Amino acid sequence: MSIRKSALQAIANTRHELNRIDFKKIRLKDLFGELVFNESVQRERLPKPVYKALQRTIKNGDALDSDIADAVASSMLDWALEKGATHFTHLFQPMTGLTAEKHDSFISPSGEGKAIMEFSGKELVKGEPDASSFPSGGIRATFEARGYTAWDPTSPAFIIENPNGATLVIPTVFLSWTGEALDKKTPLLKSMEALSDQSLRILRLFGKTESRKVFTTVGPEQEYFLIDQNFYLARPDLLNAGRTLLGAAPPKGQEMEDQYFGTIPDRVLACMADCEAQLYALGVPVKTRHNEVAPSQYEIAPIFESSNLATDHQMLTMEIIRKTATKYGLACLFHEKPFSGINGSGKHNNWSMSTDLGENLLNPGDTPHDNAQFLVFCVAVIRAVAKYPELLRVSVASAANDHRLGANEAPPAIISIFLGTQLEDIMEQLEKGPPTSTKQGGTMEIGVTVLPKLPKDAGDRNRTSPFAFTGNKFEFRAVGASQSIGGPNTVLNTIVAESLDFVATELEKAIKGGKDLKTAIQTLLPQILKESKKVLFGGDGYSEEWHKEAEKRGLPNLRTTPDALPVIVRKDSIDLFTKYKVYTARELESRYHILCENYVKTLNIEAKLVLMMTKTMVAPAVTKYVGEVASTVASLKAAGVDAGATGESLKTLTGQLNALHKSVADLESALGHVPHGSPQDEIVYMRDKVLAGMKEVRKHSDALEAVVADDHWPLPTYREMLFIK
Ligand code: ADP
Ligand code: MG
Repeated sequence: MSIRKSALQAIANTRHELNRIDFKKIRLKDLFGELVFNESVQRERLPKPVYKALQRTIKNGDALDSDIADAVASSMLDWALEKGATHFTHLFQPMTGLTAEKHDSFISPSGEGKAIMEFSGKELVKGEPDASSFPSGGIRATFEARGYTAWDPTSPAFIIENPNGATLVIPTVFLSWTGEALDKKTPLLKSMEALSDQSLRILRLFGKTESRKVFTTVGPEQEYFLIDQNFYLARPDLLNAGRTLLGAAPPKGQEMEDQYFGTIPDRVLACMADCEAQLYALGVPVKTRHNEVAPSQYEIAPIFESSNLATDHQMLTMEIIRKTATKYGLACLFHEKPFSGINGSGKHNNWSMSTDLGENLLNPGDTPHDNAQFLVFCVAVIRAVAKYPELLRVSVASAANDHRLGANEAPPAIISIFLGTQLEDIMEQLEKGPPTSTKQGGTMEIGVTVLPKLPKDAGDRNRTSPFAFTGNKFEFRAVGASQSIGGPNTVLNTIVAESLDFVATELEKAIKGGKDLKTAIQTLLPQILKESKKVLFGGDGYSEEWHKEAEKRGLPNLRTTPDALPVIVRKDSIDLFTKYKVYTARELESRYHILCENYVKTLNIEAKLVLMMTKTMVAPAVTKYVGEVASTVASLKAAGVDAGATGESLKTLTGQLNALHKSVADLESALGHVPHGSPQDEIVYMRDKVLAGMKEVRKHSDALEAVVADDHWPLPTYREMLFIK
């Protein structure tokens, strides 16, 4: 039996035991944060001075003493032991884009053959994993192995449970012995500090002296696919590359528009609820779940948090969904484009800035036209995006995301901003003089008297924009589903910090020169808008006209990763990131190398999979079928009957099979001739020769899939994978 057949049979015969969580007994609000060493646990368990010192570190960024660390560690140990922990681990986010952990037991021999449980401040604060086996982009050679993980007290420790003992997890940053960041968290924390410093300067101008810190806030909406695990296991491409590299379009795709917000299948809903319960216990505030546009595609979104915590929680969310799905016989696909011709998955990055007192700096209020502080922050963001669109583009660049950006489902690779009618109108007024009015939404007349009147938003939404203002935050929609949000937010925070720095400097200068704040703002903002408004666009981002218009406006369109990556090491990028101490030049260089390597490796794996699958699965199946048709034709001829259409189809099939073989040989040859010059030469070659070669093979394989007898086809089809739930 073919593995496809056994997959189908296994699915048909399996009764899934859905894990039952009794929400009548377990109250969600009690469950929330149960496994987190959070502020309330800290207050309860730490000696008062220790608690206060730790809070000062978390909230104001004060340095932490080593005796405080010892006291925290000792109380963390007691708490973790009560939760059944046997081990602890420093969790870090290396440049693989995943998380990494190495577990150590609490156990320590005490002499006389006995042991005690121990956890010191030193162990809490610093770890020493071997850094040489993580990507460093040339910063670390294999023989220079030393790396450090350092406790990030702003992200609380938590417990991960397992049937055989729990682990205390400590979020950390990851540095090389020479002090360079080898991870995604360190630059993010630095970018948050840069933005905080510059925002405070602006707030001071408005007389707001009480705030000590400004945080960036993020609410990431995660899209993903869940398909039956049996299909996943029967597809080498899904298993090893996370996406289908072959596969004909199904007769029914997503054209009926019956998936989005559709009823969630029971097995999937049970899995989601299980994930959510685990996430609640870990203090991750997940809020929303629904069916997405594509068949078998779903979304999960939390309530926003500080960017650092949101990033850690986002990684945790992906990990929990991935693990939990298998318990329900499902496989979770986070790839940006698992199925060709079907919508891919993104991660909408809702972003704003908030003071430590809880004021959202992008909240326009009811009358934004006379909310000068909001206008200053908002215009600063517009300026940042207009000035650094290429950095935003490169922050989401990957081989996988290239299949999605600009594919008429995700925003185009051209970065533009959608403001909505209300803000657009105010910005137009502002450019000419002080704005005097705000367009209001009013109420909706539904026309059915028994229904209440609904308040109406002042502006419509626009799904095609990569960077949209949505009420009191901006939504960066180009982030890919599998990516860490650490990188994009690091860029976003840094470019906005630069913009706020510019604005603060100009305003401070004007005020020193005798102007009052209002006049200074009224002079500065129109100037900025004049230069930046080319990035504002309210129309259809998918349309051909926009591509032309964007080109006229001089907006960059970096279509693919090889087009985008060189931006990282351009002089203006290095100047920007070094000025705000987010990345050093060496760190940027290393990221460029890692991303190039990653692009090459990804395409190399995909190409090898295509070769393997066509040679060992598709071609043999087709050959067998051709053999059967050929013997039918021969028998017909021997019986003196004209083979007719069967004879014709034999010719067509043979022709298609030859074309497949030829494309396979071409791809193999392309793969054998990868230039070993500069990384740039290599990635361009991979895109132009290898990726193009894979597409050619796919074209022939998919054409054959449409004509070869169904019982010969070895791979689960789109029709089955997307619709058997
Ligand atoms: P929609 O995109 O449909 O408007 P929501 O308003 O529910 O959806 O918001 C989507 C995401 O944006 C959620 O994760 C939400 O927590 C987040 N969000 C809301 N306000 C902010 C904010 N001030 N900063 C960052 N994210 C926010
Ligand atoms: Mg949204």
